[in-house]
Amino acid sequence: MSAPAFVYLDHNATSPLRPEALDAMAEALRAGGNPSSVHRVGRAARARVEAARRQVAELVGVLPAEVTFTSGGTEANNLALSGSGRRRMLVSAVEHDSVLRAATNTEIVAVGGNGVVDLATLEKMLRSSREPALVSVMFANNETGVVQPIADVVRLASKAGALVHCDAVQGAGKVPLDLHALGVDYLSLSAHKLGGPTGVGALVVRSGAPLIAGQLGGGQELNRRAGTENVAGIAGFGAAAVAARGGLDVAGLRDRMERTLLAIAPQACVFGAETPRLPNTTCITMPGVKAETQVMALDLAGVCVSAGAACSSGKVTRSPVLLAMGVDATVADTALRISLGWNSAAGDIERLIEAWRDLYIRVNSSDIVRARAA
Ligand code: PLP
Repeated sequence: MSAPAFVYLDHNATSPLRPEALDAMAEALRAGGNPSSVHRVGRAARARVEAARRQVAELVGVLPAEVTFTSGGTEANNLALSGSGRRRMLVSAVEHDSVLRAATNTEIVAVGGNGVVDLATLEKMLRSSREPALVSVMFANNETGVVQPIADVVRLASKAGALVHCDAVQGAGKVPLDLHALGVDYLSLSAHKLGGPTGVGALVVRSGAPLIAGQLGGGQELNRRAGTENVAGIAGFGAAAVAARGGLDVAGLRDRMERTLLAIAPQACVFGAETPRLPNTTCITMPGVKAETQVMALDLAGVCVSAGAACSSGKVTRSPVLLAMGVDATVADTALRISLGWNSAAGDIERLIEAWRDLYIRVNSSDIVRARAA
């Protein structure tokens, strides 16, 4: 069998659509219908939306009524931050832009060198004002995969009467998640990070937590988010949530890949390696080689990876996440993100290793030639 044209190791940017999700979407698109219509076509569309709500709820251990569908993780984050009614917001330094930019009266909570939020600092900040706050700390980081101690964040926040929002866009479907065990008030999800379609997500709002709607209109989603539901997208999200229930079993592959890359380049560094991380994410430097050069060289070799977070312009910018972890700017510029997913196989990793090794040898041998010539 010939090798595939390319291998895809950028699941934290978006994960390819799972076949189950594609089937559910095709069925919903063929059937059509507005879930608010009273007739049979409308009722069938409503049934699809409510089935998906149960499936998404089950993925994160909540009641279906706690799930509000949105247009994605970005909207879910915006809705939580603008809708909690809290003006004072304590936000970790490594949050996604959709949290950092949606927050108002923002106070940034520092992280340590391992990318984990500094709990002592958070506690001090919570104590520094009587104004009730909203704390927003992500479940796991999109660039490093570092998992945050959410239960500890909730413990500190509840002592201070603060609400807690958790952006679980990167954690859901990769590791088991349970909103009630975590104790958070708001949880953001995105379908396309777990093998569902782009353009659909959810905000889970714990029963009893306040939520002021941001988008007004027809009263859909229990008046929390108006607008005719994206039925096919929601159906695809539900099917992907079912398929993702067991989480990702790729830690063994990922760890083997990291050991091999570090054996090739012993000066390379894997960020967050000493702390709990998602099983699928590696953020690794190739010393002296800019991340964009690595991304282009690997792409030419048929390997899709990325340089930190994908931004809308497609430009590679210096990673604020690594800078917040105290990483030197020139080192941060050499960090590559490799993220595995539901269809990753050993052959994909071999191809990545080969391409990475070739580039490393090429760059270093041209350095030697230059040094000799100098
Ligand atoms: N939060 C995190 C941690 C993410 O990684 C992303 C996407 O990259 C988002 C939020 C935004 O999700 P969406 O693309 O569904 O708007």
